[in-house]
Amino acid sequence: MQHVRTAPPPDAGGALPAGAAPPGAGAGRPRLRLIATTDLHATILPWDYFADRPAPGIGLARAAGLARRLRAAAPASLLLDNGDFLQGSPLGDLVGIGRGLAAGEVHPVIAAMNAAGYDAATIGNHEFDYGLPFLERALADARFPVVSANAALALGAGPRQDRLLLPPWVIVERALAGGAGGERPLRVGLIGFLPPQTTMWNARHLAGRLFVRDIVEAARAFVPELREAGAEVVVALAHTGIGAARHAPGMEDAALPLARLPGIDVVLAGHSHLVFPGAAFAGRPGLSVARGTIAGRPAVMAGAGGSHLGSVDVAVAAGAAGAAGAEGAGATGGAGATGGAGGWRPERGRGRARPVARRRAGGGMRAAAPACPAVSAAARPWDAEVRAALDRPAGTTRTALQSYFALVAPDPVLALVAAAQTAHVRARLAGGAAAGRAILAAVAPARAGGRGGPANYADIAAGPLTMRDVAQLFPYPNQPCALALSGAEVAEWLERAAGQFLRVRPGAQDAALIDPAFPCHNFDVVHGLGYTIDLARPARYDAEGRLVEPGSRRVGAITLAGRPLDPAEAVILVTSDYRAAGGGGFPGAGAARRVVLAGPPTCREVLAAHLARAGPVESSPVEVWRFAPMPGTTVVFDSGPGALAHLPAPGGRAIAPAGDGEGGFRRFRLAL
Ligand code: MN
Ligand code: MG
Repeated sequence: MQHVRTAPPPDAGGALPAGAAPPGAGAGRPRLRLIATTDLHATILPWDYFADRPAPGIGLARAAGLARRLRAAAPASLLLDNGDFLQGSPLGDLVGIGRGLAAGEVHPVIAAMNAAGYDAATIGNHEFDYGLPFLERALADARFPVVSANAALALGAGPRQDRLLLPPWVIVERALAGGAGGERPLRVGLIGFLPPQTTMWNARHLAGRLFVRDIVEAARAFVPELREAGAEVVVALAHTGIGAARHAPGMEDAALPLARLPGIDVVLAGHSHLVFPGAAFAGRPGLSVARGTIAGRPAVMAGAGGSHLGSVDVAVAAGAAGAAGAEGAGATGGAGATGGAGGWRPERGRGRARPVARRRAGGGMRAAAPACPAVSAAARPWDAEVRAALDRPAGTTRTALQSYFALVAPDPVLALVAAAQTAHVRARLAGGAAAGRAILAAVAPARAGGRGGPANYADIAAGPLTMRDVAQLFPYPNQPCALALSGAEVAEWLERAAGQFLRVRPGAQDAALIDPAFPCHNFDVVHGLGYTIDLARPARYDAEGRLVEPGSRRVGAITLAGRPLDPAEAVILVTSDYRAAGGGGFPGAGAARRVVLAGPPTCREVLAAHLARAGPVESSPVEVWRFAPMPGTTVVFDSGPGALAHLPAPGGRAIAPAGDGEGGFRRFRLAL
């Protein structure tokens, strides 16, 4: 196997300095420092391209500057990335959709990662957003190995018989001073994983071309192989979140069952854009926020966009291999895993997540380290081009386009996107078999606070628009997709979306309204219909889309063109290719036979074309749905401080400010 590499760290000599304390003497113990980023989403410079202003809390340049500091303080270190690095910013889209890569040109994210001195990386689900050939072209210039044990071009009888897209793992060596005063290489095994849902989310690029196995299944097959090849410390580069403790086949967030597998010493998690260790995980079974461990194994999840840098320090001792964690330590399943004299074994470790910038007491942000100039330099030549592309005019709006109340009231952004999508599909279907059917548009807010924070809203003033605004209104590289559904199926779709809200007891005062586990991008509002949502009833589907209350229906009074929706009526539902392929687990989606229209252009191009064609738009929010009245009942929800400028809320909702929320949010009260 050609998976073994020996590379010295760029900033450190690789060995403990002369005169360092021998192993067992506290701070001088031999240790390995793993430094991790995840979900960079093509964010290099500390700049918010959507808002066109500095964003000190993000970007690989700052994270790499901090990484350089952490590496200088550690004799043996590795810089690793956990995937989702190519897509997710206007820079990523410019390269991936806008103009591609010229011959000899290096993808700016890869150039930045090369400059940062990455030792290895794995891929995330979003690496496939621009198709397989683009990914392979971009990765060809990486000066670090990229591994993935469960992404296959063809499946075999078992994981080890699969024809993999990339090497499943790599072993990297680091010189380390040993107890006898000598220097012996520590062999670090790095193995990558991504969620099996990847093929569904990117079905338009991947159907029949890529197959992704269950994460735990692939780990069970390849970790022993990695041990047999001589890895003394095994690190999972796991593009997966921290979810259920029990393994379920095909699970998306598999960090916990993965950490429990014998032979895995460290878990670098990601994908869900959260921070571990962090307060959000306090008290969860199997996790220790104080010790930075998942199932006893040192672990970290470093936020997103370069917001955090993860580090895991692993103390190693001379001797046979074992597990770094306290829980489940012991045999690692690796026959011949070095053993005896000359080997290393991990003893214990701890994960930490450091923000790249912290909020100062008086406002403003203080960077944890200066940006790495070489990383910034990799993005600079593209920066002007990205801004010029975003500065291009894109029509005019007579009304503000903001999403502060998108989860609770009629929303002008959703209304505009729905109008553009409906017009596009109507034109495409004209004259065809489906021409006579009602066209409905299911659109969900892309930006509505949540994990993205109090600035994560669309906020565009009336006036001329640019492509920057269009990118803000539709940040994903999805394409529209039209499905043939029955009225009954659409009603079920609405129930899935209505899981956005917690159940509210009639008469309650200031009850919490929004289920924080339910991402806003699954709150589909179906334009073309009218309906009510009754909060007194339990949600029929939970946040993951499971049918949990088959006897309950929250959505009522569904009308189409002023008359009750006939469950048997054949309608066209416009959504995205992501949703149509099963993203979000909407009932009725995921079946190719229902697709009546798919393919380019992207939703964003559809929106831009609509703005160019329609003349000045006036997106008065359309009242699609309302809460069923609950007299004497109030609920509270959070929105950004910018929401205050847009009261009274659209649609005549009785919304009033109710003080400060947490983390910079403002709280609002809604009378039902
Ligand atoms: Mn991501
Ligand atoms: Mg991901």
